[in-house]
Amino acid sequence: MKTVLKAAPRTSTQRGAEPSVRATVEQIIEDVGRRGDEAVREYSERFDHWSPEAFRLDPARIEEIVDGLPAQVLDDIRFVQRQVRSFARVQRDSMHDVEVETLPGVFLGHRHVPVSAAGAYIPGGRYPLTASAHMTIITAKVAGVPRVVACTPPIHGEIPAATVAAAHLAGADEIYLLGGVQAVAALALGTETMRPVDLIAGPGNAYVAEAKRQLFGTVGIDLFAGPTEILIIADAHADPFVVAVDLLSQAEHGPDSPAVLITTSREVGEEVIRHIDALLPGMPTKDFAEPAWRNHGEIHVVDTLDEAFTLADAFASEHVEVLTEDPRKALDLMHDFGALFLGEGTCVSYGDKVIGTNHVLPTKGAARYTGGLWVGKYLKTVTYQEVRDPESSALLGEVCGRAARVELFEGHARAGDVRAAKIRGTTVPW
Ligand code: NAD
Repeated sequence: MKTVLKAAPRTSTQRGAEPSVRATVEQIIEDVGRRGDEAVREYSERFDHWSPEAFRLDPARIEEIVDGLPAQVLDDIRFVQRQVRSFARVQRDSMHDVEVETLPGVFLGHRHVPVSAAGAYIPGGRYPLTASAHMTIITAKVAGVPRVVACTPPIHGEIPAATVAAAHLAGADEIYLLGGVQAVAALALGTETMRPVDLIAGPGNAYVAEAKRQLFGTVGIDLFAGPTEILIIADAHADPFVVAVDLLSQAEHGPDSPAVLITTSREVGEEVIRHIDALLPGMPTKDFAEPAWRNHGEIHVVDTLDEAFTLADAFASEHVEVLTEDPRKALDLMHDFGALFLGEGTCVSYGDKVIGTNHVLPTKGAARYTGGLWVGKYLKTVTYQEVRDPESSALLGEVCGRAARVELFEGHARAGDVRAAKIRGTTVPW
C-alpha cells in the first residue's frame, strides 16, 4: 500500500508552463520579431540590467577572458570536455547511413545530415552553467554543425568568464552575452546583428523553455528542457544521508525544482526528512533549495520495488537515481526518465558536471516521448531513392497509377503511367 510521508502542494507530475509565463513569452517574441535589435536590448536591460555596446564578444576579448582564468579551472573544463566529446563521438559512430536494394535495381537509403546552424543556449540567471556549454556546443560540433552560436546571460551584471572559456574551447563560432526569451527569439528569428539558426538546443528556466516551445516550427528545438527535477528510488540498503544530500543537490537549482523520493523503507524516508531538516539551514543555496523542497519535495513509501518503478515512470522525471541493492533492474523495468544513475557510485551531480553523458534532459513529463540532447538531435535523417532497373520502374509505375487513382490523385497516377508506358513501349491511356 502506498503512503505519502511528505506531500508537495504542487506535485511534479503537473505539465506545461504557467499561463502568465506563456503570455510574457509570447509578447517578447512578437516584439523581437517586429523590432529586432532594439527590442532585444530593451528586454536585456529590463530583465538582466545589461546593455553593452555589442552583445557579441570579439575574438580578442574572448582570448583575454580565457587567459584571465586560473589554470585549474581551464584544466577542469578541458577534462570534462574530453569526457563529453568521447561519449558523443561513440554515439555519432553508432549512427550508420544505410542503403538497401528492396526490389531488383531499387535502391533506398538514408543519411544523417547536420543542420547548418545551431544555437546553444547556456543558462546563467542564477548560476553560470558552464557545463551547459560543453553539452550543447561539443555535441553540435561532433555532429558536424558548421555554425554554432552560443548565447548566455551576464551573471549579476558580470561576464561569466568560465562559461565564455568553455564555449570558446568547445568550438563555438559566435558567442553572445545575451540571455532569456530575447536571446532565444533573436536566435530563432534573427535580428539586424544576428543571423538566425536552424535549431536551438540547451536548458533554461521556465521562460527560456517556453520560448523554445513557442518558437518550434519557426526553428527546430532539441527538447523541452526546463527547471531541473530529481527522483530517487531507494530501498532499505540506501544511505539516508546520501539520499538527503542528493535530493538537495538538485533542489538548489531553483525554487521550482521538484525533488522526489520513492522508497520501500519507511525508516529510510523518515531519516531522509530528518537529514534534510538538519542540512537545509546551513546550505549556502538554501534560498532556492528550501522553497523547492517545501513546495515541490515529496516522499512516497511503497511496498515493493516494482511499485516504485511504476510510480517513478508516472513522474517521468528528468533524473532518476536508483539507490537499491540491484540498481540495474531499473534499466529493464523503467521506461520514462531522462537519465538513470545506477548505484551510489555515481549521482546526478556527476551527470550534470563531469561524467560525459549529456545533461540537457527532458522535464515536465517530456521524458514520456523523448530522451535528452545527443548528436542525433543535430542531425536530420534524410532519405533518397534510385531505380536502376527499367522493369522495376515499370512495375512501380503501374502500381502507382492504380494506387494514386484510389486516392483520386490523377496527376500522381500519370507520373507512374508515363514511366510504365515509356518502358513498355505503349501509349498512355489518357
Ligand atoms: P536562464 O539563463 O535559463 O534564465 C535567465 C534569464 O531569464 C534572464 O536572462 C532573463 O532574461 C530571463 N528572465 C528572468 N525573469 C524573467 C521574467 N520575469 N520575465 C521574462 N524573462 C525573465 O537561467 P536560470 O534562471 O538560472 O535558470 C536555469 C534553469 O535551467 C534552471 O531552472 C535549471 O534547473 C535549468 N536546467 C535544466 C536542465 C535540463 O536539462 N532540463 C539542465 C540544467 C539546468
